[in-house]
Amino acid sequence: MKTRQKIRKGIILFTFFLFPAIFYYLSPVIIIQASLKGIINGSFVIFILLFFSALLLGRGYCGWLCPGAGCQEAIFLARDKKVTKGDWLKWLIWTPWISSIIVSAISAGGYNKIDFCYMTTHGFSIGDIQSLISYFFVLLLLIVLPAFIVGKRSFCHHLCWMAPFMIIGRKIRNYFNWPSLQLTSTPDACKHCYTCSKQCPMSLPVEEMVKRQHMEHAECILCGTCVDACKQGVINFNWGRAGNKRHA
Ligand code: SF4
Ligand code: SF4
Repeated sequence: MKTRQKIRKGIILFTFFLFPAIFYYLSPVIIIQASLKGIINGSFVIFILLFFSALLLGRGYCGWLCPGAGCQEAIFLARDKKVTKGDWLKWLIWTPWISSIIVSAISAGGYNKIDFCYMTTHGFSIGDIQSLISYFFVLLLLIVLPAFIVGKRSFCHHLCWMAPFMIIGRKIRNYFNWPSLQLTSTPDACKHCYTCSKQCPMSLPVEEMVKRQHMEHAECILCGTCVDACKQGVINFNWGRAGNKRHA
């Protein structure tokens, strides 16, 4: 394994171990509770930051920082099934969820206070047995079981409420053709060995993307696994523009 992937896996394992402490800052429920009281809480701020990060780094957060990523990639060792369908499912969750946040804020008369640590215990998410139980419940039901039953990073494909913020961010970036971190390829050097497609943690058809000379994909998390797996050096990270907007 290349050093870059060792570092990446080390970071996502570390953030996974931090997950019990930071769990409320990514919560889809606490943001609604806070909005009902007109409070901008920690997860509100984080979701806005994720949207802006996507303008420059696409879904790099999903590949390099997300606490749910470390857990899911560890499960690859036991369950390595590809996931190629159903990316639309997360939008069925996201749309009513974001609507309920807006309705909650309106019913509270708008936001009037910022409390980043709202509902935490001195900044820590798990302060009592009830929050510990809800942590394990969410981890098991939303992240671990889908990874075993459905396949690799199923949570990211089908359930994640944070991914749409970044997908919208990168689509806006692509629409305006702003420069950002991208994958680029040199298809002439490709030997069609499919190593990149086999190893992609998001189960993307990377070899095909190389062939089409279009490396932009809404589900690409810029993890660099394909970059480091290709012995021919066909795929690279680059700072630039996304290219063909039609498939972005
Ligand atoms: S790993 Fe490299 S050579 Fe093999 S299919 Fe992918 S891009 Fe082509
Ligand atoms: S295409 Fe490459 S960078 Fe994107 S998710 Fe797959 S392996 Fe990671």
